Amino acid sequence: MLDKFLKEVVGIAAGKPAEDIASLLNSKKHVNEFLIAKKLDLTINQTRNILYKISDHGLVSSIRKKDKRKGWYTYFWKIEILKSLEFLKSALVNRIDQFQNQINSRSTKQFYICKRCNREFNEENALLHDFICNECGGIFSLKDNTKDLKDLKRSLDKYEKYLASVEIEIDKESLKLDKQKTKMLKQLSDDKLEKRRTKAKETAAKRKANKELAEKSGKKKPAKKVAKKKIVKKKPATKKKLIKKAVKKNSIKRKIVKKLTKKLTSKKKSVLGKKQIKKTASKKAVVKKKIKKK
Ligand SMILES: [Zn+2]
Repeated sequence: MLDKFLKEVVGIAAGKPAEDIASLLNSKKHVNEFLIAKKLDLTINQTRNILYKISDHGLVSSIRKKDKRKGWYTYFWKIEILKSLEFLKSALVNRIDQFQNQINSRSTKQFYICKRCNREFNEENALLHDFICNECGGIFSLKDNTKDLKDLKRSLDKYEKYLASVEIEIDKESLKLDKQKTKMLKQLSDDKLEKRRTKAKETAAKRKANKELAEKSGKKKPAKKVAKKKIVKKKPATKKKLIKKAVKKNSIKRKIVKKLTKKLTSKKKSVLGKKQIKKTASKKAVVKKKIKKK
């Protein structure tokens, strides 16, 4: 169906003999113009003339590639299906309008005919000729429009059906283009996501490497610290409840621990040198003693 429509389009745009180019141009990729010429058994200039005519209506797209050795450009062409179908649609709408106008005038106006010469005149012209044929001198007779009207209505019906099927094809093609667009957008966002994941992995690996490095230089102490910090960090959720229930001693202990963690956390942010670790370690010992005392 689509191929038939595209042929019709090319026929309207570049003349009926050019129709066969339509199926060659109905391709996902752009087609080499020399290949088109060869397949149609035309010269490259004849082929280009057809392509330019179709191109004037904006129904084809082209890309060009430079021949590196010879230095000239070769063009590659492809028919734009949706544009072509819209073009066909508007041509059909025009024709349908014409039929409707004719039907209107045939059913409301009078026409005259010279039966001998088979020439037809509308009322105005018949009046101008005084209802006498200037060719044969015969007298005009009123035309019976019944058959004409019937033919016109049949044609109108045919074209309306044709238009409906073109519109179905337009819907199909639009849907296809929408899907392609969505797919492309999804591909784009997938790529972004993938990039983000890779970056996250890299950051995690770096962090791990840094941590290992710190552990080596810090004689395992940083690991302990990290572990402690984590445990303390989790506490705040249960802390309130505990404090409410707990004895005073307990709450004092907790306060000290909190202070200590604060210090540890701020220290941890800077790179851990041995000195720092020793310092915090000794501080911790002091605090521990204090807790015991209390
Ligand atoms: Zn006549």
